[in-house]
Amino acid sequence: MSDPVLIVGAGPVGLVMALELARYQVPVRIVDAMTERATTSRAVAIWPRTLELMERGGDGLSAELVGLGNKVTAANMLADGKHLARVPLDEIETPYPFVLMLPQSETERVLLAHLQARGVEPELGVSLADFTQEGEVVTATLRQADGSEATARYAALVACDGAHSPVRHRLGLVFEGDTLGSDWAQGDFHLSGLPFPVNEFATCLHAEGPAVLFPLAPGRCRVIVGLGPSTTDAPPPPPDRAGFQALLDRRGPGGITLHDTLWSTSFRINERQVENYRVGRVFLAGDAAHVHSPAGGQGMNTGMQDAVNLAWKLALVLRGLATAPVLLDSYDPERRAVGAEVIATSGRLTRLATLKNPLARHIRNTVMPAVLGLAPVRHKLEGDLTETAIHYRDSPLNGISWGAGPRAGDRMLPADGEPPYGVGDTPRFTLRAGPGAGAPPGDLPAALVYPMVRPHAVAGGIQLIRPDGYLALSVAEGEWAPITDYLARLGPARSKGVSA
Ligand SMILES: Cc1cc2nc3c(=O)[nH]c(=O)nc-3n(C[C@H](O)[C@H](O)[C@H](O)COP(=O)(O)OP(=O)(O)OC[C@H]3O[C@@H](n4cnc5c(N)ncnc54)[C@H](O)[C@@H]3O)c2cc1C
Repeated sequence: MSDPVLIVGAGPVGLVMALELARYQVPVRIVDAMTERATTSRAVAIWPRTLELMERGGDGLSAELVGLGNKVTAANMLADGKHLARVPLDEIETPYPFVLMLPQSETERVLLAHLQARGVEPELGVSLADFTQEGEVVTATLRQADGSEATARYAALVACDGAHSPVRHRLGLVFEGDTLGSDWAQGDFHLSGLPFPVNEFATCLHAEGPAVLFPLAPGRCRVIVGLGPSTTDAPPPPPDRAGFQALLDRRGPGGITLHDTLWSTSFRINERQVENYRVGRVFLAGDAAHVHSPAGGQGMNTGMQDAVNLAWKLALVLRGLATAPVLLDSYDPERRAVGAEVIATSGRLTRLATLKNPLARHIRNTVMPAVLGLAPVRHKLEGDLTETAIHYRDSPLNGISWGAGPRAGDRMLPADGEPPYGVGDTPRFTLRAGPGAGAPPGDLPAALVYPMVRPHAVAGGIQLIRPDGYLALSVAEGEWAPITDYLARLGPARSKGVSA
């Protein structure tokens, strides 16, 4: 077995990275400079694709998160206090047709418990002081809280060290993008008088700026407000409860009373992405690689999915099950494209919500209800927000696509009652084939493919599905050769054992 992987940062992304690697039998060490875990709520939205991917651990993680959170199934749009539109969020095909509202501190608590159950304990008060890399070896120096330092070898370093990422700085990577010139504030409140059910959120558009309400639980809400153009070097402190109340009274539907403030903060929106997610055996994931507007609530989700994407590839390579360079090479193009799309979509939503020109606002408010009534527009928005529309169609890891069905790189859902793709302690591909496919050849590598071929719900073709639930390639029935070639190209594992 290889040297351990060093994960720097035990926020949600580092925890998911450690969970996935530990499950796939890769030794990990996860460290964080903080001496105590954060208890503030921060990111409150978990979208369906993240829950689908977290289910792959087979340890009930998604079910536990769902049991703790509030399931939101629709979004309301208001302008100047009047209701404009209601957009359902439960029309997509997923086992989780809702956005789960759960404070980040709770999400992290659950992730941590599942990681500890796999025998891994994050080391708090331990910071990365420096690192170098040569070939496939990373040498890193860790500093303990008492100032003592120790240097050791690692098979890879995954930087989950947040928006100010020391690893990114140390590598000299450019964090391309801008800081938007407006101030924002958010807070969690106990409140009453919300004119929507607890499973619906609301965006209230107004000439001064938006106010957005995310229900966390009955009588508890996250409120985000735009404060207007920045006029100071740093964002001003957040308004007090009365200040939030006044903004809500002017911009919201009326009748809402904020009782007490549970937590509040102010912020500026950064839209930035690192120029490369990988330098040799050092990988960047989460806020270290991308930051963007909280509109859409996708920062944490996108980061957690970076970790899922990288973990199975790293596990295959470090365990020597597959060694083709394209595996690790594909991490940057696949996840950089997703990050760019999230930055663009959340930026568009932010700009639409903060239009200043009265005519543009009038057109937006008049046209939006009709546009959101169009099913294709709604489905596109829903797919982007829920991250179920994420695909890797341009990935260098893709094989061929057959027929009119899903293309290589598309998200694949298991059939009802089937286990998720990628379960177990080894990242294996799944075969799915119709009754006419014939028996698979005997030389498919058992280390890379689950032994059972899953039947097609609808007949047609043979599909090879990646451990993270995306289609690797599809071929016509009976054409096993491209599948054998694809797996052979991935690496050295060659043994028999796949059966129809
Ligand atoms: C106040 C606040 C409110 C937010 N609200 C929202 C929201 O409403 N919606 C949303 O989607 N997102 C929100 N976010 C963003 C969301 O919290 C992040 O997207 C998410 O935490 C990113 O996770 P991460 O694991 O990549 O990084 P982080 O959670 O930032 O974790 C990085 C970790 O790396 C550690 N670290 C840094 N340097 C070192 C080092 N040298 N050695 C060891 N450890 C190190 C840090 O201590 C930290 O714990 C908010 C963030 C903040 C701070």
